[in-house]
Amino acid sequence: KKISIAIDGPAGAGKSTIAKIIAKKLNIEYIDTGAMYRAVTLKILRDNIDINDKEQLLNMLNNIEIKFVNNRIYLDGLDVSEEIRMPHVGKYVSQVAAIKEVREKLVLLQRNIAKNSSVIMDGRDIGTNVLKDADVKIFLIASVEERAKRRYKELKQKGIEVSYEDILREIEKRDFIDSTREVNPLKKAEDAIIVDSSNKTIDEVVEEILNIISF
Ligand code: C5P
Repeated sequence: KKISIAIDGPAGAGKSTIAKIIAKKLNIEYIDTGAMYRAVTLKILRDNIDINDKEQLLNMLNNIEIKFVNNRIYLDGLDVSEEIRMPHVGKYVSQVAAIKEVREKLVLLQRNIAKNSSVIMDGRDIGTNVLKDADVKIFLIASVEERAKRRYKELKQKGIEVSYEDILREIEKRDFIDSTREVNPLKKAEDAIIVDSSNKTIDEVVEEILNIISF
């Protein structure tokens, strides 16, 4: 039987880490929708696209190619999995993700992927919009300090030096834009189950969610 699992929540709650592990355990596909918004943002920055120019924006959206292969994301044929994590992309992504036309395009792609295979999809609007009929909906949260701390460590490991304060500010700003935008804001779906990852290990959170799934 085909199953679909939605994981939503604020930035840095651990969605992608947890979703990747669960995908492996259940042998289903993992779709990182945040990576798709980041890829569009990267293209806008690279090609110097004026997001207020509707014609330019639509032209870009009609020609963009975003693909996942082996958990790597390809933008117009190039692997951009590392580049989309850079701070300059993180700084603009929420502005780009608030654009109606961008969301229409990516939601369509996301639903197409989920149509043919069992998936675990993480993002902000999966349970409320993209996969409204998902079999299981998780809303993963953690304190903003904990989330900033994790992101700080993660970037440091990759050799990217940013201050903790800058990360905290970026996360708060992103959450604010994501939860107050007009189109499909970050919001817990009514039938989503809240999982708080604060002060829990990755294994503990995975265990908790697997228990929910097997119900
Ligand atoms: O998941 P990640 O933090 O990489 O997502 C980056 C940004 O993409 C979010 O802050 C949000 O602005 C946007 N996003 C979204 N809807 C999704 C996934 C991500 O608006 N389903």
